[in-house]
Amino acid sequence: MKYVSTRGAAPVLGFADVVLAGLANDGGLYVPETWPTLGAVTSGSYAELAASVFVPYVGADIDNDTMLRLCNTAYSTFRHPDVVPIVPLEAGHHLMELFHGPTLAFKDVALQLLGQLFDHILTQRNEKVTIVGATSGDTGSAAIDGVKNCANVNIIILYPHGRVSDVQRKQMTTVDSPNVRTVAIDGTFDDCQDLVKAMFNDAPFREKHNLSAVNSINWARVMAQVVYYFEATRKMSGPIDVTVPTGNFGNVLSGWIAKQMGAPIRHLIVASNENDILTRFFDSQSMAITGVHPTLSPSMDIQVSSNFERLLFEMNDRDGAVTAEQLTRFRDKGLSVEPDQYEKWIAPTFRASRATDHDTLVTIRSVYEDFHMLIDPHTAVGVKVAREFAEEGIPMLTMATAHPAKFPDAVERATGVRPGLPEHLSHLFDLPEFTVQLPNDLATVEAFVAAQAK
Ligand SMILES: *Cc1c(COP(=O)(O)O)cnc(C)c1O
Repeated sequence: MKYVSTRGAAPVLGFADVVLAGLANDGGLYVPETWPTLGAVTSGSYAELAASVFVPYVGADIDNDTMLRLCNTAYSTFRHPDVVPIVPLEAGHHLMELFHGPTLAFKDVALQLLGQLFDHILTQRNEKVTIVGATSGDTGSAAIDGVKNCANVNIIILYPHGRVSDVQRKQMTTVDSPNVRTVAIDGTFDDCQDLVKAMFNDAPFREKHNLSAVNSINWARVMAQVVYYFEATRKMSGPIDVTVPTGNFGNVLSGWIAKQMGAPIRHLIVASNENDILTRFFDSQSMAITGVHPTLSPSMDIQVSSNFERLLFEMNDRDGAVTAEQLTRFRDKGLSVEPDQYEKWIAPTFRASRATDHDTLVTIRSVYEDFHMLIDPHTAVGVKVAREFAEEGIPMLTMATAHPAKFPDAVERATGVRPGLPEHLSHLFDLPEFTVQLPNDLATVEAFVAAQAK
């Protein structure tokens, strides 16, 4: 299997190179040349299913036994024997709990496996990389946990000082591994992202220290998320509708890929919070940037849905030049698609709606009152939207993307009950923190990264 860039001007690469590269060097995202189909995998563990989904995408880069071993290791860190269990809500509506990994959010599903893939590929090549990333909360802790035992990977995560929740900060700063560093930047999340971008744009610096990224556009992350859509359709008899709380379009894109590969999914329902660029696109066929507005579901507070580029490339019949042109104009002028593109790619599959913070709180409360279950605010956005689209006779599944204890304030506000951390994290607040504080200054941060990358 070979991979091409959505902007059509980067070298064609194999799986291992695509995983290490993250972004293509023309600024595009890598996608496979074709979408393989997967026959029904009705038996076997979650890790075995994951290996079956990956095999056609990996080609000769990783043999089947190794792929299975990496999947087994990645998913042995999950606390539930089903890895991503399905639990009932009201009649015809289930939740898939994607938050039983080490850091309590769905990003663990992808980043535990990505850590294994990085370690394996780098060991084979006898190379080392330094991962540099910025986080507003969930991604940083999940990325650190995924690579904290990888000998060939250094990881440095920048976060805005005083602007991430206590649980999120502790999950990052209490990891005591020689290859892990966390940095509190005197600035905002955007400042952290700008510092990371500047380091990647500094080509001599990037090459000297072999910088790498694990953000949500990384192909292996998208792939790892495809697996649980197959898990859902093998456990519930399809066709099903799936509602996905999303910001970057990463999770829902994985659902679309599962459908391309033959998973019996009817509709994919995009659930946005008040940062609803995606929902506005599905309503109006045009996409325009507005400012980011903080909400109770902060992991979906985004301005641009970066993974949408992969679907746009398909909508342009895989014309990289057209896609590149649309995206260069996007920040200034917005972007729109033609009615025939909409009829072919969007209308048959996608639905979308939004939830306000008020809807989120009302939904958390109603689920608690009716089912005695605590759900987190991101999941609540999904549940609210799923209920709008519920249809007699078609099972509905909503992706539950975080454990309620990760966002205890919102849950307590809605229900009066403060959710407790699960057993493996109950000592989090007693552990010492390892972190440094640095000014929002590129030279200072680069010097820190250079010292750590040695
Ligand atoms: C990251 C995240 C999301 C959004 O994921 P996308 O990749 O933008 O679809 C939703 N919920 C939680 C809890 C997250 O951490």
